[in-house]
Amino acid sequence: MKNPFHVMLIPTLGCPSKCSYCWSSDEGSPIMSIETIKEVVAWLKDFRTDRVTFTFHGGEPLLAGADFYRQALPLLSRGLPQLNPEFALQSNLWRMTPEIAQVLAEYHVPIGSSIDGPKEINDLQRGNGYFEKTMRGYEIAKAHGLNVRFICTFTNQSVKSREEIFSFFLKNGFTLKLHPALPSLRSENPRRWALEPEEYGDLLVYLLDKSLEHLQEIDVMNINDLFRCVFTRRGNVCTFADCMGNTFAVGPDGSIYPCYRFVGMPEYIMGNVYDHPTVDDLAKSDAWKLMFGYKEYVDTTCGECKHIRYCRGGCPYNAIAPTDGKIQGVDPHCVAYKRIFDEITDRLNKEMGESPMMEMGFLSKPKKGARPKVMALMHKMVST
Ligand code: SF4
Ligand code: SF4
Repeated sequence: MKNPFHVMLIPTLGCPSKCSYCWSSDEGSPIMSIETIKEVVAWLKDFRTDRVTFTFHGGEPLLAGADFYRQALPLLSRGLPQLNPEFALQSNLWRMTPEIAQVLAEYHVPIGSSIDGPKEINDLQRGNGYFEKTMRGYEIAKAHGLNVRFICTFTNQSVKSREEIFSFFLKNGFTLKLHPALPSLRSENPRRWALEPEEYGDLLVYLLDKSLEHLQEIDVMNINDLFRCVFTRRGNVCTFADCMGNTFAVGPDGSIYPCYRFVGMPEYIMGNVYDHPTVDDLAKSDAWKLMFGYKEYVDTTCGECKHIRYCRGGCPYNAIAPTDGKIQGVDPHCVAYKRIFDEITDRLNKEMGESPMMEMGFLSKPKKGARPKVMALMHKMVST
């Protein structure tokens, strides 16, 4: 089965926020023209036939303004009916206005935003005033019926306050999606905020327990995704699937990259939308060959790992960007992935050994007052 087709559109690399662990450039960075969107449509006309998801990402994509979305969304939607486009947007929401919210609502665009916990913790690592500006945008989005979920970046500092951060998400009724802070490749001290793989593994196990404890009150997206990976034995998010050849990112000038994370790094350009490249054209680029080289490397290096089917060596960017495009190892978060995959697998095996399916909370509701087991998560996922 083919992995989902995903095109990330990066209207700008600029961002008004100055988060300590991020690498976006300043607000004045160039913005994608509508001409480039028209070329995206022309490029994709005969590129693939399966459903596409377009995610507007950045930098901060709302810097492109209401007019950009007023034109871009119908162009993509009507220009590519055969691909049945779906949309999503990743934004800090500072520049959300009623005008932008209205056009996003028309196209049912779900939003992923970022909050790292309560104001003090968030602003310490994202900058003073961040929390209030994001919440202001959130209120506008909510008033227009937009669906907003928050990604919480855990750094090696904030992970010490994991209890407080989890309570914040729980109390506010927010779905939690965690993102581990990565080494910032453009900083003099790249590991200053990075969450080490061991800490990340501990955090995932902690969140597994917390999400089971509060099963009916909160969704922890990563835990749901990891559980689904193990249970279905298939990766269902890009980190745990072969993203190469299925995910692309288009930078502000129309350059095509393997993912938004590479945008702005010229050595990873595979082509340009203005040339309408076919899959075969892109396959000739060094970046394409590198991404597929990583896939082959994983098949060999992770060959003996019992989780390979639904881990697939993690994220290629994490593996190859810090070593200047040389494949020297798998995603350094391997330690964390192994830890949580082992944990879920062991608990599942134990629960299956203890009681037949009917009693495990899979086909019937878990017993009242009983401490939820991991199978209860499956029950929740199939019943909602
Ligand atoms: S490079 Fe990493 S973040 Fe980008 S699509 Fe692939 S797995 Fe996802
Ligand atoms: S857990 Fe580690 S060894 Fe196993 S497939 Fe994932 S990256 Fe490879």
